Amino acid sequence: MSTNPPVATPSLWRRYLRIPLIWKLAVALVAGVVAGLVISAVGAQSWAVPVLDLLGQLFLNLLQMLIFPLIITTLIAGVTSISPQRLGRIGLKVFAFYLLTSAFAVSIGLGLALALSPGAGLSMPGEPQEAAQVPPVTETLLGIVPANPFEALVEGNVLAIMFLAIVFGLALTYMINSSDEHIQNLGLFLRRGVDGGVELVFRIIKGVLEYAPVGVFALLALVLAETGAEALIPLLKLTGVVYGAIIAMIVVYTVIMLVFRVRIAQFFAAAKDPMVTAFVTRSSNGTLPVTTTAAEKLGVHKGVYGFSLPLGATVNMDGTAIYVGAATVFVANIAGVSLSPGQFFTVVLIGVLASIGTAGVPGAGLLMLTMVTASVGLPMGPVALVAGIDALLDMARTMCNVTGDLVITRVVAATEKGMLHDPGKEPDHKEGAYPPERSL
Ligand code: ASP
Repeated sequence: MSTNPPVATPSLWRRYLRIPLIWKLAVALVAGVVAGLVISAVGAQSWAVPVLDLLGQLFLNLLQMLIFPLIITTLIAGVTSISPQRLGRIGLKVFAFYLLTSAFAVSIGLGLALALSPGAGLSMPGEPQEAAQVPPVTETLLGIVPANPFEALVEGNVLAIMFLAIVFGLALTYMINSSDEHIQNLGLFLRRGVDGGVELVFRIIKGVLEYAPVGVFALLALVLAETGAEALIPLLKLTGVVYGAIIAMIVVYTVIMLVFRVRIAQFFAAAKDPMVTAFVTRSSNGTLPVTTTAAEKLGVHKGVYGFSLPLGATVNMDGTAIYVGAATVFVANIAGVSLSPGQFFTVVLIGVLASIGTAGVPGAGLLMLTMVTASVGLPMGPVALVAGIDALLDMARTMCNVTGDLVITRVVAATEKGMLHDPGKEPDHKEGAYPPERSL
């Protein structure tokens, strides 16, 4: 009788953990597409949709529950690790780059749509819509300063939470740099707590990412099970224009990164996880934990990404800008209206303003499209047609939105001294990893 020597066979779970995330996501993507098309072809939606919905919603909830702890901890830690003057300069740069890329995005979307005329030949009579309902700029700006921080949290107001975190971070910086030793010690004590919080949130994100393949599978299958391949046919040209313009935008990002000597292969190796997550969750806000992990992998200091990524998720939506531009041309073509240069300008302006006040959540772009088309008096019927495939367009545009945020974050970090560390090293969240500058 022979006894087998005890072999340290890894459990199934351990083996699963060892497979790189990108492989698991790739398998989940393919399986999700196949499952969705099969479900739609055999008409099994009645039982499959609730199950997929449950699995997908669980992934979205897991990501969303981390958004505010992540913004608060990384932003306070980021602000306290650089001087306020530097924070202001980084902020201005990030904003300028965001505006510049958005302008490119709108031009590409409008240009490609005008060249290829999606929707031309289709017709759909309809009444013009009511006038636009874009919230006034003053309302958006005032909303950034929350009268009640808890209300801001409950409402999910990212800009207001960012404002709070920056104010707390700045006050903490002054405490840490105080000449009074007691105040300084209190400041350092609080700072240690914040650093601990950052570490804690990153550990949870790591855990959540292990569920990502299931979530990716379920969300993708859900969209295809509900839309079906045939639903795409009349809208194929618009889909082609939006996807084509987004690919062109990724080329623009690559050129920008080349100009700033960013290593492209290294960038996309880190960016692929947030890109896939954005594609299936259709939410820049929801993808924030994964985007932040990618910024860490790229070696970006949290003094840059703690600010630029949550801001970008809310205000920088290049993919959405492309979509709004292209879909407006599509709606105008179906309505048989040719837009004047003045109306194009309105489309761009309202599009940009609406995007600043709109959070990066699924379907936000459709809402913006309604505002934009209404503001130039186009009918609602063709917009409803776009709504039918909005989920598919939302996937690509959210991926573009998130990529744009990460590109600018990496580029701005490259232009600031000491804001990049060696990406080969493990991210270090411990106190002292980014010594605070004492030059107030
Ligand atoms: N879903 C997009 C985002 O989260 C916004 C949109 O609907 O265009 O970035």
